[in-house]
Amino acid sequence: MTPETNLPSSFGEMDLSKEILQAVEEMGFKEPSTVQAKTIPLMMSGTDINAIAPTGTGKTCAFGIPMLEYVQLKDSRIQEIVLAPTRELALQIGEELTHLAHFIQGVRIAVIYGGQSISKQINVLKRRPQIVIATPGRLLDHMQRGNITLDAVHTMVLDEADEMLNMGFVKDVTKIIESTPSDRQLVLFSATTNQDVLTIAWKYQHDPVEITVEATKEDRPQITQYVIATEQDRKTDHLLYLLDADVYQRIMIFCNTKFMTDKLTSRLCKEGYDARCLHGDIPQAKRNVVMTDFKRGKFPILVSTDVAARGIDVDDVEAVINYDLPNENEYYLHRIGRTGRAHKHGVSFSLVTFRESVRMDEILKYMLTVPTPLKFEDEVLKTEDGTPFFDHI
Ligand code: ADP
Ligand code: MG
Repeated sequence: MTPETNLPSSFGEMDLSKEILQAVEEMGFKEPSTVQAKTIPLMMSGTDINAIAPTGTGKTCAFGIPMLEYVQLKDSRIQEIVLAPTRELALQIGEELTHLAHFIQGVRIAVIYGGQSISKQINVLKRRPQIVIATPGRLLDHMQRGNITLDAVHTMVLDEADEMLNMGFVKDVTKIIESTPSDRQLVLFSATTNQDVLTIAWKYQHDPVEITVEATKEDRPQITQYVIATEQDRKTDHLLYLLDADVYQRIMIFCNTKFMTDKLTSRLCKEGYDARCLHGDIPQAKRNVVMTDFKRGKFPILVSTDVAARGIDVDDVEAVINYDLPNENEYYLHRIGRTGRAHKHGVSFSLVTFRESVRMDEILKYMLTVPTPLKFEDEVLKTEDGTPFFDHI
């Protein structure tokens, strides 16, 4: 049931092909999320869209379904592209679209990203994909080598547009947009809007419709946030205390630097934990293996820099731990948003030293939430009223 009038409350009401309806059922989706109900019909009508929706609300299918409904199977040129800020996210979008396309014969989806061999990608492109999902730098590289032309593009989607533009891709993204026909459909998805997104919208969209989805009770990830007061030289011990409690089976730990990520991972391994790490200096092929293995539950603890914080959807991350507090407020949201996805309940812990408490206050002001404070007393983690935390979990 959607509160707004005229919004479809089921996929069946949305004029979708039987192949897509079948796929959606196979994926276990009972009804469209709000952003899907708002976006899908509009995007299928060809409108330019500027959508702002919180993380975990189902944006991938919101654009993936209309893309697959449009694709002209007999045309073997590139008709639709999605740009994503990171390789991991590009791969994940590729996976979700491949699921959605399960019952459609003859769709070819290619994922193109930096770090993978160019010649391998040239082979993929030779299979003439109609849909390309790419990171901006590598797409541009292929365009300049003449491996890709975008003059038959009908739909272009920028996923995590805010982040992509923040990451310094403005020039690349602009060049790519300008290589597509000026009447293509341009759809932007962001978690929050910023000046660069507005500029792109203003320059390249035609009569865009703005869609804003507030985090509703159902859509908002259910995350209980805890802040643990600690000291710098006790952080690792306190982290180990959380892990030793043996309550959470799948945990993501965030650090701010590659160095810290490596160091913490080896320490955890030394303590007997099966922890692996993910950061920008790890070769792409290895990053993919780590990500896939984590998704499949092959190891329980992933230690990561913010590389993995955005957009990545791993089911059943039960706890997110901020070993370091992120330098940007938004990243806090993206990090803890790795848990509590798809209507499951999650918890986050932030280990905060006295020096970091000012940062924490800033973050909480931005989040408009009040977390539960926890503290160590005689080496036991306790709530404010003095009860041991893990007693009632
Ligand atoms: P976002 O891009 O908004 O952060 P995702 O597209 O990654 O969110 O989706 C988050 C999770 O919700 C994914 O596991 C996805 O498969 C799932 N999901 C998407 N749409 C639905 C739906 N209609 N019903 C249930 N789960 C859904
Ligand atoms: Mg997303």
